[in-house]
Amino acid sequence: MITFDGVTKRYADGTVAVDDLSLEVPTGAITVFVGPSGCGKTTSLRMINRMIDPSQGRVLLDGKDVTTVDPATLRRGIGYVIQQAGLFPHRRIVDNVATVPLLLGWDKKKARDRAMELLERVGLDPKMARRYPFQLSGGQQQRVGVARALAADPPVLLMDEPFSAVDPIVRASLQEELLRLQSELHKTIVFVTHDIDEAVKLGDTVAVLRVGGKLAQIAAPADLLSG
Ligand code: ADP
Ligand code: ADP
Repeated sequence: MITFDGVTKRYADGTVAVDDLSLEVPTGAITVFVGPSGCGKTTSLRMINRMIDPSQGRVLLDGKDVTTVDPATLRRGIGYVIQQAGLFPHRRIVDNVATVPLLLGWDKKKARDRAMELLERVGLDPKMARRYPFQLSGGQQQRVGVARALAADPPVLLMDEPFSAVDPIVRASLQEELLRLQSELHKTIVFVTHDIDEAVKLGDTVAVLRVGGKLAQIAAPADLLSG
């Protein structure tokens, strides 16, 4: 479980991006942070893997303040997927996904086998594995981004607008794929989007933020208040 306990983030220029946020992200479920641009979604996400630290309050992972956890250990347990997959342009797809296992000391064959297995899991044609990122469509690159984030089998997955840059039909299929994957993997997922339809479709729980970084409501999709 991830807990935000009275978390405020004030940037150096005085901007309050997140304002006294308290909520719980349950283990093994998808929690969506939704709200308009600038409401503090990305800032909130980044306080989980310590790309940013709170100005006040604490973020707890399984009861431990993340600022007290060794950063390398913390990040090994947290996969991170962003809008533009951020693949290494000069590495083949298979090697993009194998990078983290190799860093963890796996031998090359085992790391590539793991990468191939993950690429299949996220629904990428195995023929794409030898290609370079520029030879893939945006939607295919996002699948690779998800596979790469899963490579070290982290219990937690942070997803920051991962499907926003692809066209609506591809987006719908990526959403289906994520739900299918999650029904097998049961990761603790924090998914950030500005799209309420996407939030309702993917979220077991939806946290609605508003500009100024305050939590407006948190509920199961069926119980969200409109307006
Ligand atoms: P969202 O992900 O919901 O679009 P962000 O977390 O990116 O929101 O940003 C929240 C607010 O904090 C915005 O007003 C944004 O301009 C501001 N902000 C983000 N990063 C910085 C920064 N490094 N310095 C100052 N203000 C920032
Ligand atoms: P090297 O070990 O020097 O990278 P290899 O002959 O093992 O050379 O592989 C050549 C390229 O083929 C690698 O860069 C890798 O991207 C790709 N490759 C290797 N193994 C696989 C595999 N199981 N599936 C897909 N591509 C692979």
